[in-house]
Formats: sequence, C-alpha cells, structure tokens
Amino acid sequence: MPTSLSDRLSADLGSLRDQGLLIHPRVLDSASRARTRVDGREVVNLASNNYLGFADHPALRAKAAEYLEAWGAGAGAVRTIAGTLRIHEEFEAQLAEFKHTGSALVLHSGFTTNQGVLGALLREGDVVISDELNHASIIDGLRLTKATKRVYKHADPADLERLLRENDTDGLKLVVTDGVFSMDGDVAPLDRLVEVARRYGAVTYVDDAHGSGVLGAQGRGTVHHYGLEDADDVIQVGTLSKAWGGVGGYAAGHADLRELLINRARPYLFSTAQAPATVGALSAALTEVQRDPTLMERLWDNTRYFKTELQGLGFDTFGSTTPITPVIFGEAPAAFEASRRLFDRGVFAVGLGFPTVPRGLARIRNIVTAEHTRDDLDHALEAYAEVGRSLGIIS
Ligand code: PMP
Repeated sequence: MPTSLSDRLSADLGSLRDQGLLIHPRVLDSASRARTRVDGREVVNLASNNYLGFADHPALRAKAAEYLEAWGAGAGAVRTIAGTLRIHEEFEAQLAEFKHTGSALVLHSGFTTNQGVLGALLREGDVVISDELNHASIIDGLRLTKATKRVYKHADPADLERLLRENDTDGLKLVVTDGVFSMDGDVAPLDRLVEVARRYGAVTYVDDAHGSGVLGAQGRGTVHHYGLEDADDVIQVGTLSKAWGGVGGYAAGHADLRELLINRARPYLFSTAQAPATVGALSAALTEVQRDPTLMERLWDNTRYFKTELQGLGFDTFGSTTPITPVIFGEAPAAFEASRRLFDRGVFAVGLGFPTVPRGLARIRNIVTAEHTRDDLDHALEAYAEVGRSLGIIS
C-alpha cells in the first residue's frame, strides 16, 4: 500500500515539531513599516527587508495606483505570448540606465531570476564555482543545470583560485557570489573575486538581493560600489522585493544578455508577467532613490548607530558591515527565546537557528531601515539590553 497523504503530512510535521523547526510566521495587521502591528500589537519592526521604507511609500503607492488605473490588474499572458506591456519595456530600460548596464530583464522574483538565468546560461561542459554561503535560490538554480559544480570557502579568493585552476574547461566558467550575504551581513570582496575570475577567463555572477538599494551611489548596488558596473564579464541579478519595495527580480549586464534570457529563461517563457501596479511601484522607487538622497543617508546613519550601540552593550554583531545586523545568541533555543522576549517588549526581530545558520551561531537577524526613527532604535536597544541581561548574554 502506498503511504497516505495524511500519514505523510503528519509524519513530516511531527518530525519538524520534534526538532523544534516548525515555523509559525507572525501576521502583520498593517503595511510593512518601521513601526507596524504584528499579531495585534504595535512593534518596532526589525524583521523586514524594507531597507528604504519603500514597501509603503506614498510615491510608490501613487504610481502603482496610476498604472493600475491605466493598465489594469494583470498583464494577461506570458510576455512572449501577448503579455509584454509598454510599461514592462520602459521599466527595464529605466533599470538598465540606473544600473549602467548594456541591458536588463525583469522576472517575477529574485528566486525565479536565479533559476531562470543560471538555467538559461549554463550547460554541460561548463564549470560553475559558487560561494558556500550563497542563497538557496542559487543552489536550486544550479540544480537545474548540467554544468560541473564546485563550492569555494566563503568569500575566499585563494580557495576560488584553487578551484578555477583545478577545473579547466572549453565551456563557460562562472563564479557565483551573493553581493551582500543575507545571514551575516558581510559584503563579498568582489574586486578580488573578479580579479581572480578574470585571470582564469571566468565570468562573475553577483546576486545583489541585499546590496541593491543599499550599497553604491544612490543604491546602485555592490557591483557599482566596486566600480565594476561597466564590465561585460560581470552579471548582476537581484530582487525588486527588498529595498525596491515591490516584488520581482532582475538580471542586468552584457548588451546581449536580455535577448538570450527572453529566448531561454524558463520563468520568462512560461510564467505570466508582473502586474502593472507592481511595475508602477518599482519605477517610482528608482526615481525616488535618485530624487531623495536622505533615504540612503538615513539608512546608513541608522545602521551605524544601531550597530555601535549594540556592540557598546556587549553584543556580538558578527562583523556585519551592512544594515543586516545579526546578534549572536549561540544555540537556537536561546535565539528563539530572545526573539519572544523582545516581542513582549514591542520589538519584532526573528530568531534563526540551524539549518538556516551554522550550529552554535544561532542569532537574531535585525534589519535597520531608512524609515526607523532614533526613538524606534532606542526602544529596540533598551529591549535588547533587558533581554540580553535576562538571558546572561551580556553583563
Ligand atoms: N537572493 C538572495 C541573496 C536573497 O536573500 C533572496 C531573498 N530571500 C532572494 C535571492 C530571493 O528574492 P525574492 O524574495 O525576490 O524571491
């Protein structure tokens, strides 16, 4: 007899429950803002990726409403069939100009972008060398290809060089890294990685989900931060779902990249295009970040303040240099308990344990945004001080 569905569901859920890994997402009762209502109470929100406060920004709401009125609720079809609207094309041109790249294509999410681009680009005989801490969507994207896969030690150009030397090919060689790493908040040493990649004729692929809207002039991203945006041997991908306040993903780079992806990327070929309201919001986000320099200034002022104060209290922020600010609690139960105690004190920040992060490095991941006021951050710091002392993490 085959396993019944209810047996399968209860066995799998039971096993997750026994390991303490069962997830119950908290529910927001208002838009994702720096202060928001979560599970019925007002909290300072340190859990979002809303770096620039765009998720509920008036300029984005206005242009989303305008595009909704003018272009309707949905795109109607997959883009190659009859779903490419003028606004999709215009937004991609705006994005390529912003990124200073030869072309740009937009897909449905950062996750599907990694699957689409890696799947479209790589084939048997190619070699791909990926940082050990790269995001799950890169790992899944690489599973879709027949390329030879190797993994280098996190942010280690010497280990990358060893693997490039040991794995020669006549096919494409691709080095894959996150721009900013989502759990630790460190920035990839892209200048050194690209320099090593070039010596071995390899192309560099940067997933800038957490660097776009955060690093580089006007938030142009990690590649721009290192002055590599004009390079034809660097591919930028990323999300439009974090700093840019909407949902979607993009790939930007070589002038011919867009056309290849239109013809080969499966999410482009087989999934309906983004809704007009989303395109409107995203287009307004790119305009707004260039119009209002205080957004980036506030993001970085807040980041420096919050990190310095946490360290002053005696917390370990794991060397993070970006708005992603981990606070290390050791084992997972301590991090989860700290997250509960913070919530009781009006601070929403999520605990992460193994397998999301290594054993012994369970943490709360705080994300500082441009929208937080000094009051918000001081409230969170006070709560951290109390919780840290009550758990014996700080003295
Ligand atoms: N890449 C990285 C590095 C990410 O952190 C994320 C978001 N968790 C993604 C890709 C996926 O982006 P999206 O949420 O738009 O699917």
